[in-house]
Amino acid sequence: MALLVQKYGGTSVGSAERIQAVARRVVAAADRGQKVCVVVSAMSHSTDELVDLAAQISSVPHPREMDMLLTSGERISMALLSMAIMELGREAISMTGSQAGIVTDTSHGRARIVEVRARRVLEALDEGKIVIVAGFQGVSTEYNITTLGRGGSDMTAVALAAELDADVCEIFTDVDGVFTADPRIVPEARQLHAVSYEEMLELSASGARVLQLRCVEYARNHGVLVHVRSSFNAEEGTWVREEDERMERAIISGIAHDTSEAKVTIVGVPDKPHVAARVFTPLAREGINVDMIVQNISTDGRTDISFTLPKDDLVRAKPLLDEVATGVGAREIQTDDSIGKVSLVGAGMKSHPGVAADMFEALGDAGINIEVISTSSIRISCIVRATDVEQAVKVVHKKFELPEEAVAREQHPATATDQIKALRPPQSDGEAAS
Ligand code: ASP
Ligand code: MG
Repeated sequence: MALLVQKYGGTSVGSAERIQAVARRVVAAADRGQKVCVVVSAMSHSTDELVDLAAQISSVPHPREMDMLLTSGERISMALLSMAIMELGREAISMTGSQAGIVTDTSHGRARIVEVRARRVLEALDEGKIVIVAGFQGVSTEYNITTLGRGGSDMTAVALAAELDADVCEIFTDVDGVFTADPRIVPEARQLHAVSYEEMLELSASGARVLQLRCVEYARNHGVLVHVRSSFNAEEGTWVREEDERMERAIISGIAHDTSEAKVTIVGVPDKPHVAARVFTPLAREGINVDMIVQNISTDGRTDISFTLPKDDLVRAKPLLDEVATGVGAREIQTDDSIGKVSLVGAGMKSHPGVAADMFEALGDAGINIEVISTSSIRISCIVRATDVEQAVKVVHKKFELPEEAVAREQHPATATDQIKALRPPQSDGEAAS
């Protein structure tokens, strides 16, 4: 019997009516003879509201209590959805992450799943019940309730899909799928029919908020077929799966942007062995994720090291960096939080020269200055002024003619014509942060 995991984001369960609509959709899938395990996010904005509440009580909320608080949002939606399904005459049972067997490590706020003990979920499915699991949460190996990082319900869904050996993990959201660029900036951006795990990883890591980065990694490692689609219509969305040669022919899949990072430059660092390790080890120990590291060639035995890190981590990083700078004898630390990153992603880049040059030309022609460049085999990222980000996304999208060509080539031949017709998604109200 086919088994389906469906995940509904915060906007999709944002009101009683929407929860009832989700219930109808879930029941319809079950009526087609499939076992259905549903993962829900908290109702729109409720996690943010809980974060705000905590901030009014404590400037540094205790991590354990914070996780206790935040996991309540998903409990509300799971119970309501379960009731709505029962109202439609089907048996349903809701489970917290802990009841569903999501076992994590002990790092509150960004726990990693170490094991999924899905016995209880499987038993309920075998009894013909629809199982509703609260996303974003688990229980640690020390029996505390943990959360999986913002957007973590995606992770719950993918992990359950892997463990239950689901045919597909459907991520229902408030946009139609993955687009060649943010449609709010580039109205002619097109929906992609499929992206490879690697491309989706790069897109998520570069600021595309449609799927949580960690869940893409998990899906790739466990070969989970993911289908990102709208909960407001019945259209096919975007498939995230193993790369095939059609994807490579497309050269470019999309452009992501990110204005959540800040740039740090350590000026006048002595150019000798071990200095970089001394700079980055304290940050790593604090769990601060640095990105885009560049070191210049040295003059007079000194060099500059620049890198980016999440703006939210700047406050924690600053004292560590000051200490490091004194320790290694650097001249000064400069921080800049008015930057933005624009990234071009595509599997076909591996075998097509000139992509970087074209991107730089598009930015140059628009008078946009590039401050830092970094690349992987399928991504080129440029740091520009934050105020230039939107324009940068537009001109790069135009340069690569992503509106027509790339997508046309990337489509399934059979569905190309339906897919190419303009698919304007509804305006997202930011499901990435429910
Ligand atoms: N409710 C959590 C958040 O807003 C988890 C999720 O929606 O995926 O981050
Ligand atoms: Mg999300």
